[in-house]
Amino acid sequence: MFLRALGGVGLLHQLQSYTEPDEDECWTQEEVEAAAEVLRSDSAATDDDGEDVREDAERLQGLVFSYWHGAAESLHQAQSILASFPWLEDWSQRALWAKEEFLETLRAQVALFVESAGLLVAAAAATMERPRLSGEDPAFAVLGSSEKVSTALNALWRRWQRAAESSWVGSPARSYMSHYLVQDIRSNRKGHDEALAGAARLIDSWEAQARALAASADGKSTQQVSVRLPEATDETARGGRGGLLEGLDSWTQGVVATWVVGADWGRRTLTLDVPALVAERLHAPSSDVACEPPREEVNAIEPSRTPDDRPSSIRPGVFDDTPVFDRQPVTAEHIHALRTFTRSSDELYIVISASGGVEVLPLDVVERRLGQGWSGVLVAGASDLPESLIGTWAQTARSEPEASGSHWTGGCSDAHDLHFGEEFGGTDGERQTLRRTYFDAHRARNLRLLALTRGVHDLRTLDAGRERMLPLAVWEGTLASDRLDLAPFKQPGGDRWHRGSGLPLGPLAVAQIYTTNADPQTDGKGHSPLCRHARERGVAANDDLLTVTDLLARDDFDWCGKCGGYAVRRLTDTQVSFYRAAHRLHAITGQLDRGRSHDDADTVVSQLEELAAWQPIDEEGWYTSDSWRWHEAIRNLKRRVERARRHEIS
Ligand SMILES: [Zn+2]
Ligand SMILES: [Zn+2]
Repeated sequence: MFLRALGGVGLLHQLQSYTEPDEDECWTQEEVEAAAEVLRSDSAATDDDGEDVREDAERLQGLVFSYWHGAAESLHQAQSILASFPWLEDWSQRALWAKEEFLETLRAQVALFVESAGLLVAAAAATMERPRLSGEDPAFAVLGSSEKVSTALNALWRRWQRAAESSWVGSPARSYMSHYLVQDIRSNRKGHDEALAGAARLIDSWEAQARALAASADGKSTQQVSVRLPEATDETARGGRGGLLEGLDSWTQGVVATWVVGADWGRRTLTLDVPALVAERLHAPSSDVACEPPREEVNAIEPSRTPDDRPSSIRPGVFDDTPVFDRQPVTAEHIHALRTFTRSSDELYIVISASGGVEVLPLDVVERRLGQGWSGVLVAGASDLPESLIGTWAQTARSEPEASGSHWTGGCSDAHDLHFGEEFGGTDGERQTLRRTYFDAHRARNLRLLALTRGVHDLRTLDAGRERMLPLAVWEGTLASDRLDLAPFKQPGGDRWHRGSGLPLGPLAVAQIYTTNADPQTDGKGHSPLCRHARERGVAANDDLLTVTDLLARDDFDWCGKCGGYAVRRLTDTQVSFYRAAHRLHAITGQLDRGRSHDDADTVVSQLEELAAWQPIDEEGWYTSDSWRWHEAIRNLKRRVERARRHEIS
């Protein structure tokens, strides 16, 4: 369980990625230096061959940044996993070093693209107060009333400040912004050009002010700032790249690349040594990162991990492949760790406890029980079930022909047909599960889950909440959607066409019936857990569990007309076989009752003898009070056949 969790998107993967340059996408230090030089110069040059060197440089810049993002996120993942599995630290140390080294190489290359002077100007721009912008300036008359002019100028200012403070690029990159002021004015309109020129003048003055502020600030002395990066959203993390750094604006990225002096990527904490102006901007509420008080003393001893926020360590022997004999009880921390570090925990686990024996449970139920003091060991997850078993099963279940297709949809009405009752059986269950599994990749998984559900005493224990419910395809394989025909087991009486045969339920007595509501006193009709009215949710913890015996004993149920009110848990082979036998006997009784059997007496007698020999599959015989009633019913029928035969002869 555990090793696979580490293997997928987990630790092994993280440890192996971003340790060295990619073979397909590699570049040299010289290329990076040249590209940075091109981007630093203002010329939009083409080289001798007419290639757009600027475009190439930008492409390389994007690539270097994206690798830097990916490497940081990967190191973050690896270190945060290791924080919970500390016994793996030694083993993974070499890989971590390689990752750190590669990340540092990338950082240095990223820093080449970043202009630290530009970072200072941006920080200065961020500190600038909004200037007084007069609406009376005649240059902007084309915009309308002085109120409109003032609104437009203020909007331009905000736009400029946001752009200026969130990047390191110089003022030429922002000269285009003057156009925003006149974007709604036709360019041939009188006054348009004056307004445009006025906007450019304003922006120039703001740029100049920012540069002056940056120049007058003390750029030499620095201070340490400890910042915490925001957690990557699921979306960016799932993409495999990006994450932590990608979400930051380019100014913050530039600051990190330029001035980082220490990092605990596991905790997303960076120590930066920055000029005062930059520190001020980092501390501002608008900053992309949260500042923390410096914690150098802690850093010196152990990378920024204090005893109280150290994640409880997850010892081996729970999720790993330790021999079952040596397994350790699962704890809430284990489950939390499994959920946090893998996106692929199994839906069902085989667990063993002294109190409950061997059970199959969803992780949520295990977690809830742990809260109540339960103690148990995980034996295996659904995905641990031997491939030799599941693989073969998936093959045979797939190739099963649907020869007698009509039988599973409506069931077969001729009790003497070999397929009679098959729609309630397990083989039909497999078929339904596969039929409702729309992705090939899920076939084996759903069959694994189906196999695990089959030994569960009470399917209600599998309810892990709506979000984590078992796939509907698995429920279709576990429950039958057709209604049982219990006529053979009803008491004789009523009209001669619909009377029961009073046969014993035999192995069917304990067959399980699941319904959303079996109590007529409770509001609402009973539905099958597969019914659309029950939102096709599978069996839930608060469903009612009946047996076929209950079904037969009561007639006060209030069932849904669409689904019939309940779902039968799929019958065992013995139960299907007995269901068929009872219906055959019932059919023979019906023929005799109506006094017209199209089969001759010898055929009927031999059928009765065959039915008398019924016994549970894989057992030596059938000796219960039910078997006595079964044989009694057959003896009665035989006597009736003999009597009719004598009557015909005489
Ligand atoms: Zn048939
Ligand atoms: Zn219903």
